[in-house]
Amino acid sequence: MIRLPAFEYLTPRTVGDAVKYLADRGADAMLVAGGTDLYPNMKRRQFEPKILVGVGGVAELRGVRGSARDGFTVGAGTTLSTVARHPEIVRHYPGLATAAGLVSSPQLRNMGTIGGNLCVDTRCNYYNQSFAWRKAIGFCMKKDGDICLVAPGSPRCWAVSSSDTAPVAWSLGANVRLVGPAGERVIPTEALYRDDGIQYLAKQPNEILTELILPPPEGRRSAYMKLRRRGSFDFPVLGVAVSVRLDGDTVREARIVLGAVASTPREATKASASLVGQRLTSAVIDATAELAAGPSKPLDNTDFTHPYRKKMTRVFVARALRRIAGLAASARVEEEVT
Ligand SMILES: Cc1cc2nc3c(=O)[nH]c(=O)nc-3n(C[C@H](O)[C@H](O)[C@H](O)COP(=O)(O)OP(=O)(O)OC[C@H]3O[C@@H](n4cnc5c(N)ncnc54)[C@H](O)[C@@H]3O)c2cc1C
Ligand code: SF4
Repeated sequence: MIRLPAFEYLTPRTVGDAVKYLADRGADAMLVAGGTDLYPNMKRRQFEPKILVGVGGVAELRGVRGSARDGFTVGAGTTLSTVARHPEIVRHYPGLATAAGLVSSPQLRNMGTIGGNLCVDTRCNYYNQSFAWRKAIGFCMKKDGDICLVAPGSPRCWAVSSSDTAPVAWSLGANVRLVGPAGERVIPTEALYRDDGIQYLAKQPNEILTELILPPPEGRRSAYMKLRRRGSFDFPVLGVAVSVRLDGDTVREARIVLGAVASTPREATKASASLVGQRLTSAVIDATAELAAGPSKPLDNTDFTHPYRKKMTRVFVARALRRIAGLAASARVEEEVT
C-alpha cells in the first residue's frame, strides 16, 4: 500500500481565512477540496506540500444560486454529484450536468468538487505512476527530472488537460471568480488555462477559485461527449463540449471546445465560426466536424493511440451536434430509420 506522507491540515471556515492561510504558508501549502486528485498524487509524491488548507468546511463555497433570467453561480466546493443532478443545471446547461456526471465514479463524485475539477492536474503516462516507477525511468521535468520523456528534445511538458467540466465551462462562456491576497477578480474560463503541462493554470498559487459563473441560458443548448476506455470510470482521453444558441432554425452563436487534446482545453474556433448563420443539417454538421478535428492534436502520452483520438474528434463533434439538433446519432442510423 502506498501511504500519504505526514502533513499539517488547516481547516478554515471562511474564504478569507483560507486565503490568509495560503498566503501565510507560501509555497509549503496547497489547497485541498475533495482530495480525490490531490491525495493520490501526494501518495505518488507528485506533490509534496507540508501543509494542506482544506476548504471542505467553508459553507460559502457550496451550492448553486441564481435564476434562468440572471444566470447561475456554482460554488467551487459544490460536489460533482450535486452539479450532475441539480434540476436547473440539468435543464439549462445539460452539457455541464453530463460532464460532471461522467467524472470518475459515484464515490469520487460525492467527494470531488467542481472547483477541484476545473483545477485538476494535467496527466501523462510517464507521470501518473508511483514514485518507484518514475524513479526507475529517471523521472521527467514535471516532477523530479529535467527532460520530457514523451518529446525528449522539447523544452516544455505536454501533459494533458484531463478535466471533464473545463471544456464545457469554456464552451458555455462561463467565468470564474478568483480570490487571493490582492483581492478578487472574475475572468473568462478560457483565461484560467495555459498550454503548458506544468504551469497549466494562469491563476496565482495562492488564489482560490470560489465560483463558476454561468451566463443566462437564453435558449442555449449544450452537449458533452467523452472518450475513455472503461465506461464505468476513466479520465477522458478526448472530451467534446458543444454549446449552440439558435434563432429559430438558425445558429446564432456556437462554441466547440475540445478536452484532453493538449495541456489546455482547446477551442475549435474555425468550426465554431462556420456554424453561425447555418441550419444544423447533416451536411453542415459533417463539414463542421471535419473542421473541428483540425486543432485536435493529441500526443502519444495517454490511453488509446493519438491518431485514433484525433479521428474520434470528428465523430464526437458530429454526434454532439446531432444531439443538439435532435437528429439520430449518425446519418447512417437516420437512413435506417427513415
Ligand atoms: C480513479 C480516479 C478517476 C478519476 N476520473 C476522473 C475523470 O474521469 N474526469 C476528471 O475530470 N477527473 C477525474 N478524476 C480526478 C478527480 O476525482 C476530479 O477531477 C475531481 O473533480 C477533483 O476534485 P476535488 O475536489 O477532489 O479536487 P482536489 O483533489 O481536492 O484538488 C485538485 C486540485 O485542484 C486544486 N483545487 C481544488 N479546489 C480548488 C479551488 N476551489 N481553488 C483553487 N484550486 C483548487 C487543488 O489544490 C489541487 O491542485 C479521477 C480521480 C481518480 C482517483
Ligand atoms: S509530457 Fe513529458 S514532461 Fe510532461 S509529464 Fe509527460 S513525460 Fe513528463
